[in-house]
Amino acid sequence: MKIIFDDKFYQSDYADNGASVPGRMEAVMSELSNRSTFELVHPRPASDDDVRLAHTQHYIDSVKPNRKLYDMAALAAGSAIMAAEIASNGEPAFACLRPPGHHASRNSSWDYCVFSNMAIALLSLKQQKKIESAFVLDFDAHTGDGTKDVLSDWKECQILNPYADNSEAYLKEIQDVVGKIPSVDIVGVCAGFDSYEKDVGRKLATADFYLIGDLMKRFSKKAAKHRRFAILEGGYFLPDLGKNVLAFCQGFM
Ligand SMILES: [Zn+2]
Repeated sequence: MKIIFDDKFYQSDYADNGASVPGRMEAVMSELSNRSTFELVHPRPASDDDVRLAHTQHYIDSVKPNRKLYDMAALAAGSAIMAAEIASNGEPAFACLRPPGHHASRNSSWDYCVFSNMAIALLSLKQQKKIESAFVLDFDAHTGDGTKDVLSDWKECQILNPYADNSEAYLKEIQDVVGKIPSVDIVGVCAGFDSYEKDVGRKLATADFYLIGDLMKRFSKKAAKHRRFAILEGGYFLPDLGKNVLAFCQGFM
């Protein structure tokens, strides 16, 4: 499986928040790099045209003066685009990126998010007519309100933010929804590991992240010709973040 990552994501001075803290990307990459089952590929930054697929010019112009933040957010969006491109060719991919994006709406953003990475990636494929439909699972502890806002006009795009408050019900909720989808052009996952039992979400165990990855793998195999990709959203309990991301990726690949 391809892992999309750039050393630039180790820089933590682009912002001052939970997603930008020093050591966070190191916690993930220490588990993902140097494994023969993963192939590391480097992203290109998203262009203004890419970002405009999801955001208003007014919003883009409001981010631009903060060059460091803009450049990091453009590289994050570019990483998501690359993951989606690889997935559209039938190979799974995970983009290890920051800042996250699921709270970024068309004309604003909140929390630690800047650009709607998932929406930009899917809209880029849609614009190129590589897909007409999509399914998005967002298992972050927080609802991906930004992704929902940006993609709200796209009727063939279904987004699931599971709400069940224990892991068994959570997995069943996902299974019940995807079980009713006979076919879709691509599966995108907003992978937020703050739903971890020791993180703010206080819900899922490490083994559950493996099971979610495996469930999305089987769903994409059955319904989406293996086309699946995931991108990093939240996840702030650094001691276990790496093993949780690894568990998900091992289920997903
Ligand atoms: Zn979150």
